[in-house]
Amino acid sequence: MSHVFPRHTRKTLPVARGGDGPFLIDENGKRYFDGSGGAAVSCLGHTDAKVTAALQAQLEQVAFAHTGFFTTDAAEALAEKLIKHAPAGLDRVYLVSGGSEAMESALKLARQYFLEIGEPSRRHVIARRQSYHGNTLGALATGGNAWRRAQFDPLLVETHHIAPCYAYRDQGDGESSFDYGQRVANELEAKIQELGHENVMAFVAEPVVGATSGAVPPVEGYFKRVREICDAHGVLLILDEVMCGMGRTGTLFASEQDEISPDICAVAKGLGAGYQPIGAMLCSTTIYNAIRDGSGFFQHGHTYMGHPMAAAASLAVLERLIDDKVVDRVAPMGEKLRAALHSEFGQHAHIGDIRGRGLFLGLELVADRDSKTPFAPDLNLANKVKAAAFEAGLICYPMGGTIDGQNGAHILLAPPFIMEDDHIGLIVDGLSSALAAALP
Ligand code: PMP
Repeated sequence: MSHVFPRHTRKTLPVARGGDGPFLIDENGKRYFDGSGGAAVSCLGHTDAKVTAALQAQLEQVAFAHTGFFTTDAAEALAEKLIKHAPAGLDRVYLVSGGSEAMESALKLARQYFLEIGEPSRRHVIARRQSYHGNTLGALATGGNAWRRAQFDPLLVETHHIAPCYAYRDQGDGESSFDYGQRVANELEAKIQELGHENVMAFVAEPVVGATSGAVPPVEGYFKRVREICDAHGVLLILDEVMCGMGRTGTLFASEQDEISPDICAVAKGLGAGYQPIGAMLCSTTIYNAIRDGSGFFQHGHTYMGHPMAAAASLAVLERLIDDKVVDRVAPMGEKLRAALHSEFGQHAHIGDIRGRGLFLGLELVADRDSKTPFAPDLNLANKVKAAAFEAGLICYPMGGTIDGQNGAHILLAPPFIMEDDHIGLIVDGLSSALAAALP
């Protein structure tokens, strides 16, 4: 009997015993192509020699030194590299152990910032429906995903949710995608006015929406308008790049493609590429200086922040992504994968949309293509697709059918950036057989 407490208490899972580039191998030697990098984590596959060597070297130097007493070469070098490649204006890095911690840090930093500058009434957060920003209580409160929040609602601070930017479902007939983007962005301004701008602390959004919606990119102009609105009302823009960041969309930060800079940005997942648990919160000079020149102490911390092993792994990951130009593979490989998905599933009766950026792609499953009617949630389609794909040797990340009743199920693909052309067939064939087995 296993004494591990799994999330699904009635499931027995295979044992991961090895890796081989983009494949994982179980205890029976069965190979699985990691078409979702776990949950958009394993961007370098499972056997990266440079990251492994960096971990070994760090272990020999120093495994842990508490940040209450020391900084380390690894943490300093990682922060320097991240900032060198970050959107303009971000210049400090707070290293934590994952995405939820990065988002919690972001929210608490935003609150402390307004206290430091003498605007204590700013405490409201505005986010979007169908969003997920982590599972700790603050991050969970920010997200608008009804399914994940439901049982914990009494414990969650009040957050205000506006429409996501989800053109496939919400763009009006005859409305241009630009106009659509402006319309949904303007909901932010209306919400700020309703709450009183002096009470609003931050707007939080994922540039390309991952887990809750299946790689939904914004339309052109949306984030520029969001940035304008935040600036006009003194509201901080917090971007959650936990899933879509670190090269996943073809640029190191997804928001580069939207040509805006946030005030605070959270990254994780691909930052450690699975070799170590790590997340980071990046913030602007203005915010950092307010703390430095004010109380001089950020009232937030975790024991393992700035962990040297995690920082060393992450630095090696960034060297692979940037110096070895692994990120440059993402856009062209993403185009090839997208083309293959279009040619196989573009006319599929139950696939309404194929979308995404780079190697962050989503397929939305619908009962009817013309009306975009979602499948009934009680079909449990996402789990059926996941199980059938896994059986066929493909790891993918289906979700949905439970999100405010607004969309159907979708399949998220986020394969390692090191994948080769011949792996495209494995993804397409795995999905084909999974859909044939799982669809009603
Ligand atoms: N934000 C987003 C957008 C995520 O996708 C996730 C994880 N799926 C998180 C935050 C939370 O990250 P973690 O699971 O590392 O705490």
